[in-house]
Amino acid sequence: MPHRPHLLPAALVAAVLWAAAPPGPAGTALFAVTGLLLAATVVVATAGRATQAARAWYLAAAGLALLVVGHALGLAQRLGPGGPPAGPTTADAFCLATYAAMAAAAAVILRSRRALRDWAGWVDGAVVAVAVGLLSWVVVVEPALDGAAAAVRLLAGAYTAGDAVLLGVLAAFSGSAGPRGAASRWLVSGAGLLLVAHLMETLHRLAPGGPPRWVTALWLLAGLLVAGAATLPSAALLGAPGPGRAPFTGRRALGVAVAVLTVPVVELVRGATPVPAADHRLLQVASVVLVGLALTRMSLAVGDAQASARARTALQDDLAHQASHDHLTGAATRARTLQTVEAALHRARRSGSLVGLLLVDLDHFKAVNDAHGHAVGDLVLAATAERLRAAVRTGDTVGRVGGDVLVVLLEAPGSEAAVLEVAHRVLAAVRTPVAVGGAPLVVSASVGVALSRDGDLDADRLLREADAAAQRAKADGRGRLEVFDDALRATLAERADLEAAIRAGLRRGEFALHYQPVVDLRTGVTVSYEALARWDRPGVGSVPPGVFITAAERGDLVCDLGRWVLRTAARQLAAWRAAGEAPPHGVAVNISARHLMSDTVVADVVGALAAEDVPPALLTLEITETVLLDHPVAHEHLRALRHLGVPVSIDDFGTGYTSIGQLQHLPATTLKIDRSLVAPAAEPAAGALVALVVHAAHAFGLAVVAEGVETPEQLVALREAGCDLAQGFLLARPLPARSLPPVRTPLVPGPLPAARLVEPRTR
Ligand code: C2E
Ligand code: MG
Ligand code: MG
Repeated sequence: MPHRPHLLPAALVAAVLWAAAPPGPAGTALFAVTGLLLAATVVVATAGRATQAARAWYLAAAGLALLVVGHALGLAQRLGPGGPPAGPTTADAFCLATYAAMAAAAAVILRSRRALRDWAGWVDGAVVAVAVGLLSWVVVVEPALDGAAAAVRLLAGAYTAGDAVLLGVLAAFSGSAGPRGAASRWLVSGAGLLLVAHLMETLHRLAPGGPPRWVTALWLLAGLLVAGAATLPSAALLGAPGPGRAPFTGRRALGVAVAVLTVPVVELVRGATPVPAADHRLLQVASVVLVGLALTRMSLAVGDAQASARARTALQDDLAHQASHDHLTGAATRARTLQTVEAALHRARRSGSLVGLLLVDLDHFKAVNDAHGHAVGDLVLAATAERLRAAVRTGDTVGRVGGDVLVVLLEAPGSEAAVLEVAHRVLAAVRTPVAVGGAPLVVSASVGVALSRDGDLDADRLLREADAAAQRAKADGRGRLEVFDDALRATLAERADLEAAIRAGLRRGEFALHYQPVVDLRTGVTVSYEALARWDRPGVGSVPPGVFITAAERGDLVCDLGRWVLRTAARQLAAWRAAGEAPPHGVAVNISARHLMSDTVVADVVGALAAEDVPPALLTLEITETVLLDHPVAHEHLRALRHLGVPVSIDDFGTGYTSIGQLQHLPATTLKIDRSLVAPAAEPAAGALVALVVHAAHAFGLAVVAEGVETPEQLVALREAGCDLAQGFLLARPLPARSLPPVRTPLVPGPLPAARLVEPRTR
């Protein structure tokens, strides 16, 4: 948990004292103290958390400090024996340096958002800077400088230019793609207020007695907003990269158009008022610059559109190329296979002939890869494809539709019996040993057969039917063939219904999250909850998660479900935080493999956190162990999330093939030992195994949770094994948020032996 700094309240007290104090040295000192406390708030809040944008916050703190010193000096000079200075002073040097620090802070954020090279964003920023700079100079600053000395004019010009630059950078930041949150809103408001304060200051600079106190109060308020932003949880997400580049929306186009109109509008408003020659030139130059920028912006937008059209064409070419070959097996790829099947069905529709599709799914292919290496796996695939080609007629197509899944399309085979004959031949051909480095390797396949008469199906459907038949062949013992029939037809229809019902249920709010407490074995107190999805299907009742999650995982539906879970859990966390009832480690949600591998997962997690302003450390992601080992993309996404401070828990440990040694390489903070290891933990041998796992996990800096604790004996054994946390029906069942026991009530009664709680690792 990032510790909450007490500096912000102290700064507020100092600000109130400043407001109450009469102008004079004491007031100036209080002003300086307030500002420095605000800068310190930013530093302390940033140091207390892992954030990508730490450097930006330190620069912002430096900006605040420079500003305060500059202003305190300015106030002191004004009150000094010489009275208000007319020309530039050291105070001005400090104040101007503020701009550099703040702009650098924004640039650091933009770099970490990967928006630094977003030239279009910069042009938008420049348009805003020139338009607003021009307006404030011509309308506000210049008239107030009437008759002032050249040095004063130059200084006012420098301030106005600084304001404009800062505003431009802010516009680039606001337009960049990336998560929004309260911190980003506060920061932009704070910086915006800084600009207003500057303008007011310039306006009143030449007034007798200098700028009024409310102008100074504006400075403090701006500082307060910036410091407040740093203490908000979403401050940690400010530098998180967004999904791609921010698009050139209608709103942006309108902004550019309005900016270009600034000059004519200023001219129009001034009407007959005589304009000094210098101003006239300024307006002309600004007009040229603005039109130039607008043209640049348009050409960048056109360039973007052209680049994306080119990328699309390249992708199409690429797809067309990939669609025809698979380099490894020489078989048609999935896209080409589907096209060929579609064409065959089309012909069958006209001729009334039969089409047969065999789906050949190699058995235990992963084990071949694991045991003999990928090169041998490739060899087996290539040999299998070759044998399939040998087993069919020349007009028939052999395709590869998945890693270890091949298909054979039989056009006009004559009869169902002829299709089955080929299927048997294929089965036998695959079983013939493959020579690998001299040693024979035997592989089998499960074959699914689907038939279409008169081309009454589409290619996708025929493939799905063959797949369903192959699945049944696998389930019934592998190495055999099955034909798609009415029973499988009913299963497929049921699946489609279920998927449609889940989709509709998500829309209609039929899903809910239940929360199961995770308890600290030292204190018996709840430290977090695991969020578990529940579905009350109208007319059916409660559907077990095993059923609806498995159904959703067959397609991208599980990503929709995952997003809903993330948003709902984050909202509940925010509600608990507001009521002071959040458990110290927040909530854990289960992320399924498919969602973890999808392109949107990082944005989904960051979006849920930012929307509810929840610190990343409070939302743990539970990932099943096997996913992490098999998929490099999953690893990459998890690392990105860990980098943002989101904890990761390895779920169901003990059900897959992860060895204890591999634990140290996983981007995780916590290990959850599966119920199947926990259930027999009270027996000596099983207890020793749990102790071994706990010991290894601790050595790698992982905290350990035991899942599915059902008996007091298991609990005692887990404590003895050194386990840190436990979850299970013995302690509490998963419940709706409103029915949970109070978070601070110990769920384990009686004295607890001391155990070593490992703080989750932070790398
Ligand atoms: P899991 O992540 O391992 O969740 C723990 C499961 O163990 C939950 O089952 C929980 O109710 C059950 N459980 C907890 N304590 C005990 C106990 O003492 N004894 C026994 N027998 N069971 C216990 P549930 O809710 O049925 O969920 C099953 C699985 O479904 C979860 O396993 C998880 O993999 C998946 N799941 C649940 N909700 C979600 C979700 O929102 N998203 C995803 N992707 N998967 C979810
Ligand atoms: Mg889980
Ligand atoms: Mg589990």
